[in-house]
Amino acid sequence: MNDLLITLGSLIGALGNTQSAATLRDHLGLVNTQLQLLKEHVERLEQENADLKQRNQALEQQLPSQLNHYQNSNPNRYCCDNCGSDNLTRTGNRADPTFGVLGMKQAVFTCNDCGTESAFTPN
Ligand SMILES: [Zn+2]
Repeated sequence: MNDLLITLGSLIGALGNTQSAATLRDHLGLVNTQLQLLKEHVERLEQENADLKQRNQALEQQLPSQLNHYQNSNPNRYCCDNCGSDNLTRTGNRADPTFGVLGMKQAVFTCNDCGTESAFTPN
């Protein structure tokens, strides 16, 4: 882009001190100003992009532990069979009492309030 501006400047220079050359010089000056503004804009966007990449990388590193936490928490808001609390942590699986012979399992949760285990067949 700078080469193009230099070439245009040379071509305009070859026109001498004519009115057309003066007009073209003015326009070239405006183009140059716009180019500088665009370069600054690109620099800001590149910096913003670099910042977002860094933030994204940090979030990606947190993702496995967040996912693990989510899977071991109680996303379906099941309630404890003993006290009714939904403050449960997933602690395992077991065969469903009715359909276990068909391979169906229940999710086992331990209540963080009373310590009782409850099992739920996923819908
Ligand atoms: Zn409980």
